Amino acid sequence: MKRMITLDKPIAVWRSKDNIDGRIMDTLTVILKTRGCFWNRCVMCGFSADSSNLVSDEDILNQFHAINAKDVECIKIYTSGSFLDTNEISINVKKKIIEELDKNSINKIIVESRPEFITRENLSLLDDRFIIAIGLETADDYIRNKIINKGFSFLDYKRACNLIHSLGMRVKTYLLLKPPFLIERDAISDTINSGIRCSECSDYVSINPCNIQKNTHLERLWFEKEYRSPWLWSCLEVLKGLTSIDLPVQMDPVGAGNRRGPHNCGRCDQKITKAIKDFSLNNDPTLIEDLDCECREIWNEILKIEDYPFAPILI
Ligand SMILES: [Zn+2]
Repeated sequence: MKRMITLDKPIAVWRSKDNIDGRIMDTLTVILKTRGCFWNRCVMCGFSADSSNLVSDEDILNQFHAINAKDVECIKIYTSGSFLDTNEISINVKKKIIEELDKNSINKIIVESRPEFITRENLSLLDDRFIIAIGLETADDYIRNKIINKGFSFLDYKRACNLIHSLGMRVKTYLLLKPPFLIERDAISDTINSGIRCSECSDYVSINPCNIQKNTHLERLWFEKEYRSPWLWSCLEVLKGLTSIDLPVQMDPVGAGNRRGPHNCGRCDQKITKAIKDFSLNNDPTLIEDLDCECREIWNEILKIEDYPFAPILI
């Protein structure tokens, strides 16, 4: 019942700063409530809880009008699915949103979509202010489809990137650090390899250390003690492993320090999380050097001995 009352308010809105093309910009992020992701099968995704079949075009426009996009240079418009899916955001609503944005001084607009909706027709409404984000998660087709259950191939992603670039827009790729059934060591190398592979066709890379959302398959594995979210040391290791690629790399450690999010021993979590955020904003590798804690040794040992994917060492 609660959701019926709030269809005309976005799920969340917040301001932050982002480094885009070497410049720190004031950014507004809005998450619009829609009918939800048509796929809705990914092992770690709990966003369907934020969607409703009752959302109308008018509701989405009201949600958008409820935000204040003044004084920001960049806006991120997310849904719990794909901005380019016309069943989630109709062409008419997209046109009106773009008209609204034209009235402001916004020069970067980031939206997210699955590759199947990245078509010439769906992109035709957009212009070169747009950055299209794709949740690739990993460059490994086996991990993406057999473990995460994402339902598209690296080739689908590459085709979408080429189309976006051919129309003068840019690509941001999201990677997921540590899907289930990967030991810590393999999760680190999977994300580093993925960052290297997608750097050929993406303009920005953003890494999401996996967090455990409510009512997901991943949460069930966690309850059964078959999953631990990544160590913050692993997050740093990935960032260090990607400093050589010619692409800005960001990381958003949602839920850091919490048992459901990326975490270390509890004593150093705040310090490491701050370093990750500072690195993401400034793209300065020196900000993630010289960090230490007693738990780093434990993590190091785990990397050496954890070899059984169904029995993580829970610390
Ligand atoms: Zn520690």
